[in-house]
Amino acid sequence: FYRHLAQTSEFPVALEINKAKGIYVFDKKKKYIDLISGIGVSNIGHRHPKVTRAIKRQTKRYLHVMVYGEFIQSPQVLLAEALSQTLPDNINNVYILNSGSEAIEGALKLAKRYTGKPKIVSCWNAYHGSSYGALAASGDETFKQNYRPLVPGHVHIGHGCYDDLDKIDNETAAVLIETVQGEAGVVTSPKSWWSALQDRCREKGALLVLDEIQCGTGRTGTLWAFEQLDLEPDVVVMAKGLGGGMPIGCFASSKEIMSVLMKEPILGHITTFGGHPLCCAAALATLQVIKKEKLIGSVDEKANLFKTRLVHPKIKAIRNAGLLMALEFESFEIMKPVIDTAIKNGIITDWFLFDDKSMRIAPPLIITEKEINTACDLILASI
Ligand code: PMP
Repeated sequence: FYRHLAQTSEFPVALEINKAKGIYVFDKKKKYIDLISGIGVSNIGHRHPKVTRAIKRQTKRYLHVMVYGEFIQSPQVLLAEALSQTLPDNINNVYILNSGSEAIEGALKLAKRYTGKPKIVSCWNAYHGSSYGALAASGDETFKQNYRPLVPGHVHIGHGCYDDLDKIDNETAAVLIETVQGEAGVVTSPKSWWSALQDRCREKGALLVLDEIQCGTGRTGTLWAFEQLDLEPDVVVMAKGLGGGMPIGCFASSKEIMSVLMKEPILGHITTFGGHPLCCAAALATLQVIKKEKLIGSVDEKANLFKTRLVHPKIKAIRNAGLLMALEFESFEIMKPVIDTAIKNGIITDWFLFDDKSMRIAPPLIITEKEINTACDLILASI
């Protein structure tokens, strides 16, 4: 691990994982409650039997057979159809990739190509991914400054800031925005601001591109977080939890907008592995599990149980959008030992990229009331 695997931090958690199932991950010695879902991925729990079954079934048919877009592969088609059924009527066409960042890149290219405009507006403290376009759109200088030059033409606004809406102008191809900001430490904006944002996009001919990568797939109490905001986005970007533990990302739009990728040039966006049949089969099973097990209906109730249980003088505030929660402490120095102790006590939590004094709580949506109580007991004991 330390000698041959590229490290991205001087202090990785470094648990040696043996197995994962449901809300638990196991090392050789004990089990841990995964209270962050592998960072927003295991929304239906680890290794859900319906997902592993769908993967196994597909392994008996075919794995990779051709680059994206040429052969008709039923797992891709069925997933695209199922996703379209969950989205507004105008969003009925899906491009499938391997990750969130890749899907963001595709969505940004689509917006520039469709509108013929050069500028992308996104938010301060946004995280959209680590590839160059997605990084340029992200809104934190610390993570960007040593990797310049980035993609030009990116402008930032405040999430919820009315004055900044002026920055969306006739040159703007897209406003790329997280419906709920994840790495900023769970930041939401009022419906009235969203409505003003959408109006401004319409007025200036900019596409409204919603990043639902972390806040989507049931996490905030609706399948897609924007359902709570009466929005009509032009493009929706999804990933993380959608794959049920397999790598996937996609951007969805109208057939009309998406069709620009077919011409001038032909093959406007190319991927070898995007839409991999195993990942698509897993994602389709994931959507079915969310519906069948009615996981979304109990999200708010479960979030409220966390909120009523997690009362402690050291917890200064709790922000949440469904089961995407941030527990704010006075400082990183106070919070970090709590996280370290929690891991020793069998609870995996974390902080946020751009908010290092808040503890991340985003458990699999399948967590039960009893398990929430156990998790809260252990967090309070760790404090
Ligand atoms: N957008 C958001 C809101 C995210 O949270 C993430 C991942 N943390 C990404 C984009 C990038 O996704 P990936 O890591 O799959 O490239």
